[in-house]
Amino acid sequence: MTVMQKKRQVRLDRSSRIGKQSTWKMLWSGLLILSLLVLSACGQNSESTAKIVEGKVNVVTTFYPVYAFTATIGGEDANVINLLPTGVEPHDWTPKSQDIVNTSKAQLFLYNGAGLEGWVPNFLKSLNNDSKVKAVAVSEGVKLLTAEGDDGHGHGEEHAADDHADESGNEQQAVDHHIDPHTWVSPKSAMIMAENIKNSLVEVDPAHKKGYEQRYSELRTKLEALDQRFTNELASVPNKEIVVSHQAFGYLARDYGLTQHAIMGLSPDAEPTGQDIVKLAKLVKDEGIKYIFFEELVSDKLAKTLASEAGVQTMVLNPVEGLTQEQVNNKDDYFTLMQKNLQNLLIALK
Ligand SMILES: [Zn+2]
Repeated sequence: MTVMQKKRQVRLDRSSRIGKQSTWKMLWSGLLILSLLVLSACGQNSESTAKIVEGKVNVVTTFYPVYAFTATIGGEDANVINLLPTGVEPHDWTPKSQDIVNTSKAQLFLYNGAGLEGWVPNFLKSLNNDSKVKAVAVSEGVKLLTAEGDDGHGHGEEHAADDHADESGNEQQAVDHHIDPHTWVSPKSAMIMAENIKNSLVEVDPAHKKGYEQRYSELRTKLEALDQRFTNELASVPNKEIVVSHQAFGYLARDYGLTQHAIMGLSPDAEPTGQDIVKLAKLVKDEGIKYIFFEELVSDKLAKTLASEAGVQTMVLNPVEGLTQEQVNNKDDYFTLMQKNLQNLLIALK
């Protein structure tokens, strides 16, 4: 079994053994040690190359949106190190040994929270004993969604019920109430995240408060403008149903009046059955949906399968979980990608 397959197995085990925390923890720490061993054997492969800078506040972030907001607010006063390499999506990623070294020396560790980075508790335990790093979940204060409750329309609920029909009521409930971690995909939640980032920077580095406040206020203005565009332009589209590859658009849908139907679950490796695809194809035909959305960091195979089954086309809707190398070269950022998302939504929903 490869490490990826093992991770997947652990995840599958986890969903059927919620409640048996100790077994899971044992598996997890075994897995962390294993992946650290494998990675140290492979050398520097896809590790973060950024370095701790003496004399500046050092901030380690987990993935692109948190990194981008932190780098903007931190400006010249902060050295920001992002853990996730370019072109990698965050759901299946785990930290490397160098990441533990860097984070142990940093003043601030900013992660999304809301269940995105399941590895964080063990990661924090593995830091050096003398580390003074302050860890903050920047989604704190966002009103969180549960996965099934707000997808709502049968697909998710039926899927969960089919998969876990033989389990006890409690386990069923836990499975049905997975927290949706994709807070950053809505500009409204992104504003809360940016404020948490600013407050954390001010707390660990009060000497540069003025700069942090100034750059935060500029970022806030841009986020408010983006929020206004989403609100105004989506209010007038006649269709509100979107079919997406993984369930990453719950907050966007909630905040701008859309309904999300996902081919995969909360994580891109939660694969659908053939029956799910047939049901979705029927929904696409019944609702007159014109496009199936796919994303760049995940295979578009299922979106293409569904689109050809339903006789419609595909288009990108980006969950902004990371940049591709091409997007880095194009100098794309959170704002250009979200604006492209809005353009594509307007085409698909007219
Ligand atoms: Zn996701």
